[in-house]
Amino acid sequence: MIIIMNKDATREQIDNVEHKLSELGFKTHPIFGEVKTVIGAIGDKRHLNPQLISIMPGVENIVPIMKPFKLASRELKQISSIVEIGDVKIGGNEIVVMAGPCAIENESNFVETAIRVKEAGAKIIRGGAFKPRTSPYAFQGLEEDGLKIMASAREATGLKLVTEVVDTRDVELVASYADILQIGARNMQNFRLLQEAGLSKKPVLLKRGLAATIEEWLMAAEYIMAAGNPNIILCERGIRTYETATRNTLDLSAIPVIKELSHLPIIVDPSHAAGTWKYVGPLAKGAVATGADGLIIEVHLDPPNAFSDGPQSLRPDKFAELMNELKPMASAVGRII
Ligand code: PEP
Ligand code: MN
Repeated sequence: MIIIMNKDATREQIDNVEHKLSELGFKTHPIFGEVKTVIGAIGDKRHLNPQLISIMPGVENIVPIMKPFKLASRELKQISSIVEIGDVKIGGNEIVVMAGPCAIENESNFVETAIRVKEAGAKIIRGGAFKPRTSPYAFQGLEEDGLKIMASAREATGLKLVTEVVDTRDVELVASYADILQIGARNMQNFRLLQEAGLSKKPVLLKRGLAATIEEWLMAAEYIMAAGNPNIILCERGIRTYETATRNTLDLSAIPVIKELSHLPIIVDPSHAAGTWKYVGPLAKGAVATGADGLIIEVHLDPPNAFSDGPQSLRPDKFAELMNELKPMASAVGRII
């Protein structure tokens, strides 16, 4: 439910409405707009007679939120959210690029990759320290040693860090190193993990599940938001379809759909969608053209010898070339990269 306060409502009136709602067992989420304040109230509607609230001083109107996702919904918040990671802003005019290897392998390669992707224009370095692999026998990541390597790459370059957390027990540890917590496709509906990430103060990059509908994905975001963390970046990374020519099928239609349904920023991972480095560029361009707020791209110094996802990784020079090609694409849609 959304309580729309009238434009002259005082802070005290807003506080009183929030207080009343929390007495009735509702969680409140005020959004202070330029003209009006609206209060999102999430809870069991059966405990509420809306008239009770509608007659409170300062209240203009009460509107139900029709979608099953509430805090993530554009019904609640019409202005697009911008997730700030220090001076890097995701969801504004700039298309933010995150790049780096699938997995952190060793310090010198990772730091060199960070320097190369930064030179090409990336703002955030990616890399997995905890790797959820299809095979239990495949490389599982360097764990905390990998996080330490990431931190030294941040030191060397000033780039922000995004890395995946796969277990509730590691959220605190990963959050102590990372600037953004990544929740991977395989964990999109790991509800305990979502709640734990919701308790963290770090922004969360929430990848779409391999076979998740857009609604299920937004419900996953809702779990994080309901636990108290509004800083979510959605990431479309391809879904499982009958097509086998690519690793996954990149659902670019998710971008305008998400933009309509939600105020959250959305980025695209063309690497895991393509599965092959050759298709990464065209998919990245498509993502920019359809309104993505950012990209996350796998880059490796020596793809044939990568510990994971080598076939879909770009070499740094190819990545730099792609970044240049994306500039006119971004400006054609009124954005910068
Ligand atoms: C990754 O980013 O390396 C990864 C494992 O991605 P996804 O969860 O999208 O498969
Ligand atoms: Mn990968």
